[in-house]
Amino acid sequence: MSVTINTSTILEDDRDHIWHPYSSTNSNIPVFAVKSAHGVYLTLEGGRQLVDGMSSWWCAIHGYNVPELNNAIKQQLDSMAHVMFGGLTHAPAVELCKKLVEITPDKLETVFLADSGSVSVEIAMKMAIQYWQARGQSSAQQKLLKKQKFVSLRNGYHGDTFGAMSVCDPVTGMHTLFSDILAKNHFVPSPACKFGEPCLEEHIAELKTILESHNESIAALILEPIVQGAGGMKFYSADYLKQAKTLCEQFNVLLIADEIATGFGRSGKMFGCEHAGISADIMCIGKSLTGGYMTLAATLCTREISDTISNNPPHTFMHGPTFMANPLACSVALESINLLQSSPWQENITRIEQQLKNGLEKCRQLDAVEDVRVLGAIGVVELKTAVNMSTIQPAFVDAGVWLRPFGKLVYLMPAYIITEEQLKILINAVYDVLKRGKHQ
Ligand code: PMP
Repeated sequence: MSVTINTSTILEDDRDHIWHPYSSTNSNIPVFAVKSAHGVYLTLEGGRQLVDGMSSWWCAIHGYNVPELNNAIKQQLDSMAHVMFGGLTHAPAVELCKKLVEITPDKLETVFLADSGSVSVEIAMKMAIQYWQARGQSSAQQKLLKKQKFVSLRNGYHGDTFGAMSVCDPVTGMHTLFSDILAKNHFVPSPACKFGEPCLEEHIAELKTILESHNESIAALILEPIVQGAGGMKFYSADYLKQAKTLCEQFNVLLIADEIATGFGRSGKMFGCEHAGISADIMCIGKSLTGGYMTLAATLCTREISDTISNNPPHTFMHGPTFMANPLACSVALESINLLQSSPWQENITRIEQQLKNGLEKCRQLDAVEDVRVLGAIGVVELKTAVNMSTIQPAFVDAGVWLRPFGKLVYLMPAYIITEEQLKILINAVYDVLKRGKHQ
């Protein structure tokens, strides 16, 4: 059955009954009804077309309505939409997981499929704790049982569920309201060394001190490799990441790489960890895993971790989502990775990076702008004060683009297939809207 209600009814009913992400039910920030999406265009109810600069929050890397991805889902639908994953398996899951092991950094050999990024972070944290619990079974190793805490970076963001919230930046992580109920973990400063810069001793000193003095109770360090996303859109030194991995090894602490945003090429490498040439012990992926088609995430770990958990009581990893390994999601994810691998994605990202660098530079001259930074297919214009969403959002739509700033950050993360002409429209819209003061 196709949906036939008109635009004003959609918006009215939406306002009356529906929460949006991080929203209020009575705000004056407008919501726009989308009718369809093709390539890098969103078509609104009523016919207006917008060039999409968000890829639906890092996800739609190939653009929308991609024939290959549509076909993958259609074909899978004809054999089965879903079956439980307890005691059953299927080709879409097996082929996808084999592919994930092949393309992720070496040593990550076991895959746990989950439904969303936040859940994959919960799983990673549980895996780390269960690993040390398993190793602490023997009487000589009992002190390892205490390893149940985490260290993370300020400005980090790892999701909205309780475990994930406990490792998000307590301030920028948007979860201060819950601080009394969250598990108490350690935080170290956001790396002061920027991408491309060396990491000096002073930049990583606090991480070293915490690992040195608390490693007996720390299960893992969790971080977003190279790009800190929702907590501030910051790009930090690959050298920091490399040294952090070395410190983890030195102090017997696992490293969890949250590649949910960075995965699948966004920063210019297939995975952020590749900038530092490291492999984490546990890695989370999600978002663009399915090319933005369906919700799916995965937590990968080393054979050492999966074997240790499996070889010790209770011989079971304690997690099992109902929709684990949904065949439709697995099929489209596999097709999305194949499509990425067969495309000139690195050239596309280098081209987008160059154009973002050249094009956004002029924003620096505007009084409202604090900083402009670009890495891979991510362009960020940081303002001196937070934007007013009720004016900036319609101003972008009037300019024919879909951009969704948050706080002080106006940012672009287009699909890798965007053309030079389309990207120019996005860049010019950012400059014009800010120049006309529509962020206030
Ligand atoms: N980790 C990172 C780095 C993210 O950017 C996000 C989502 N913004 C999450 C975890 C949570 O993912 P999800 O929204 O799919 O739960």
